[in-house]
Amino acid sequence: MTNTAIKQKQGRRDFLKGVGAASAAVAGATTLPGKALATVGEQKPRYGMLIDTRKCVGCHACSVSCRSENNVPMGKHRSWVEYIEKGTFPDVSLNFLPRLCNQCSEPQCVSVCPTNATYIRDDGIIVVDPDICIGCKYCIHACPYDARFLNPETGAADKCDFCVDRLAQGMEPACVASCFNKARIFGDLNDPDSGISRLIASNAVSVLRPEMGTQPNVFYIGIDYMDEHDIRFPKQYIRVTTHRDGNVRR
Ligand code: SF4
Ligand code: SF4
Ligand code: SF4
Repeated sequence: MTNTAIKQKQGRRDFLKGVGAASAAVAGATTLPGKALATVGEQKPRYGMLIDTRKCVGCHACSVSCRSENNVPMGKHRSWVEYIEKGTFPDVSLNFLPRLCNQCSEPQCVSVCPTNATYIRDDGIIVVDPDICIGCKYCIHACPYDARFLNPETGAADKCDFCVDRLAQGMEPACVASCFNKARIFGDLNDPDSGISRLIASNAVSVLRPEMGTQPNVFYIGIDYMDEHDIRFPKQYIRVTTHRDGNVRR
């Protein structure tokens, strides 16, 4: 693709971003939690997710609904669940860790993209424009969370985008809507009165790999994450597995 062609597509993308933001503001008056979308003159929303691992039973409804909603190709995953076994019998535990793109405030995937196909929307969601993506995989290698994959059907980078098409219609992400135990909470982090903001303010929360400096906007309650290489627990049996390709350990 020539530079001119890329710039033309970027211009179209900027226009569509404006349209999308306007329609989303209208839809926000309906079913999104709290004052999810800002109106003119108000602070812009910053979308995030909170996952209460104490409520997660590893049922995979979130992963399945994501696959269906976003036409995720077989063998690829936008949303997945890790299983973490720890300890030595009889002192053992099994925990579930739902995973997805963290929609980082300082996303390494965006800074490495040579065509600006990966960018941050005004509401903080990081998305990929498949028309501009050249499939170079820079972003896939840059993400510290292994949240991205190359979609074999589009030839473009792919990942969770909080179901932006559903948000534009005033609905929550598919994984949130399908979680029967309400382990996943979605909302506006910039609104102190939103459900997610109140839960974050009143619980001990953490993010994955904070040392990477990406400032994730996916938060966890009750997380006790470690892997086989955790130097804090050199003698403890720890095993992390997932239905996802490659047994991700991030
Ligand atoms: S749907 Fe909810 S309970 Fe089931 S695996 Fe996903 S986060 Fe956990
Ligand atoms: S989790 Fe990875 S793909 Fe998602 S915003 Fe952060 S760096 Fe980018
Ligand atoms: S593969 Fe990633 S880094 Fe490369 S153009 Fe596509 S979005 Fe940008």
